[in-house]
Amino acid sequence: MRAALFTFDPTVVVDSLRAELFPRFDPKQTALVTDAAALRRDFLDDKSMYQHPRALPNPAGQPTFYAPVPHENTALPIAAVTPGCVEAVAAVVRVCYRHRCPLVVRGGATGLEGGCVPLYGGVVLDTSNLVTTRVDAENGVAWVGAGVRKLHLAKHLGPLGLLFGPDPASNPTIGGMVSTSGSGMTTIRYGTTRENVVSLVVVTATGEIIRTRQPVRKASTGLDLTNLFIGSEGTLGVVVEACLKIHRLPIHRTGAMVTFPSLHDAVRAVVAMRKAQGARGTGQLVRCELINGEGIAAGNKEFRTQLTPVPTVLLEFQGDVVDSLTDEFRTAERVFREHSCQHINYVERGAELDTVWEARRGCYMAARKARGKGTAAATIEPVYISDVCVPMTTLADCVKQTEEDFRKEGVPCIICAHIADGNFHAMVPFATAKERQQTLELDARLIARAVRMGGACSGEHGIGLGKVKHLLQEHGQAHLALQRGIKAAMDPRGIMNPGKFYPPAPLTLGGSPAPPLAASPPAAHL
Ligand SMILES: Cc1cc2nc3c(=O)[nH]c(=O)nc-3n(C[C@H](O)[C@H](O)[C@H](O)COP(=O)(O)OP(=O)(O)OC[C@H]3O[C@@H](n4cnc5c(N)ncnc54)[C@H](O)[C@@H]3O)c2cc1C
Repeated sequence: MRAALFTFDPTVVVDSLRAELFPRFDPKQTALVTDAAALRRDFLDDKSMYQHPRALPNPAGQPTFYAPVPHENTALPIAAVTPGCVEAVAAVVRVCYRHRCPLVVRGGATGLEGGCVPLYGGVVLDTSNLVTTRVDAENGVAWVGAGVRKLHLAKHLGPLGLLFGPDPASNPTIGGMVSTSGSGMTTIRYGTTRENVVSLVVVTATGEIIRTRQPVRKASTGLDLTNLFIGSEGTLGVVVEACLKIHRLPIHRTGAMVTFPSLHDAVRAVVAMRKAQGARGTGQLVRCELINGEGIAAGNKEFRTQLTPVPTVLLEFQGDVVDSLTDEFRTAERVFREHSCQHINYVERGAELDTVWEARRGCYMAARKARGKGTAAATIEPVYISDVCVPMTTLADCVKQTEEDFRKEGVPCIICAHIADGNFHAMVPFATAKERQQTLELDARLIARAVRMGGACSGEHGIGLGKVKHLLQEHGQAHLALQRGIKAAMDPRGIMNPGKFYPPAPLTLGGSPAPPLAASPPAAHL
């Protein structure tokens, strides 16, 4: 039997929420959804470990991704709320706090590790009504509601000649990006979400409203709460608003597509290019992505591109002077030629490669149809996606060994990578329990390999449910105990997103006592 970490009567909580929220808040602003059937459809109708992202109407009537999540331990949420202001969020949290009711924040639900699944039921707080945006161009920042989507923000900032740097291949909410420190394709130029947050408005786990710091360039006034909330995946509080750094839109973009005889050659070339550019580079190389032959083939099918299915590096340079971008490309070209590249296509009008970039963005979607033998009408299969990040010095070996391991097991996988960050994904469609098990074993070996090589078991997708069991080997016991201590101090009743993120100390998810923590990793990792 699953351990009951929280004792509460769902009916009582629903009634309390109704009684406490509706009299005080306009129902249009704070819609309480208690339709269990709809919630069941929303969260739980697939028995497979991972589901396909798919459009679902959320309470605000907008389409949203359904995250692929493990379902073995999920429970139905008893309610979903869509507060429209910070005070309404605080009211929801206070009610949950009073009832010791689990509270799970749901942003765009594009997370790939099951972070927004209501594992222990409770209340789902959907941020889709938190959509304010205030641009303060003079101070180079924008205050953005947690529920604002990445693409919506880009549309808002574009006409002002501005942009927000981080660019995941999905369309998540700003709150979700902050909570996972999402990154994606532009990290070499702009950094991850973490480097682009100045300050946050957060509702704490006890229902208080705080601003993590003043939105100034320097503030030497206490612990860095901003960074504590970034990447905490809804386990410490609800991010309601973020003050984000904004940048000027560059005038020109150029691009290149470079093919290689092997994945190993391609990775070695990128590593050498980064070395040649020096630690800081000129900042004009904004994207540097790698796709293996299988990924190119899947993209050709899905996006009607006609690329040769071989390992391919895609580059995009952005800046105000085309000649300067071309010079920067020439440096890369020289290095690539020294590393046996096969074919180079450089375009001074970056837009000419937009279809190829679209295919790169859509790798995950293409992987779902790659084998053309899914069970659904559209032949869509569930896809497992790994996400490790290793130092540049071990990157080529890590990718090579991973490719060999998958090949040895006869499991074709699509490898696509934010390669200049040392971050790569292996995507494997699976249909049967046996395939799923085999994929999980391959992923566990990949993670162990990455950690051995000095890397992290998640570069950008976060921990959620999927990565919890791998954390010990990366961090060691003392580190995890410290994290649990911080969680206990900030969320004293343990209501925020329970069952995720922190490896359990007293209980496992299945309710049996946790095995004793293994020995700390070797000193080299500490
Ligand atoms: C096709 C595809 C491509 C992707 N590509 C990338 C990529 O290139 N780079 C990348 O980094 N990720 C990528 N992802 C993963 C995903 O888009 C990111 O993890 C994203 O940041 C999640 O945001 P979300 O709004 O969907 O959050 P959700 O999935 O809703 O939630 C993620 C976690 O954050 C918590 N959370 C959400 N909002 C808040 C809030 N306001 N306050 C507190 N906690 C909150 C949730 O409880 C959960 O734990 C991809 C996903 C897909 C489906």
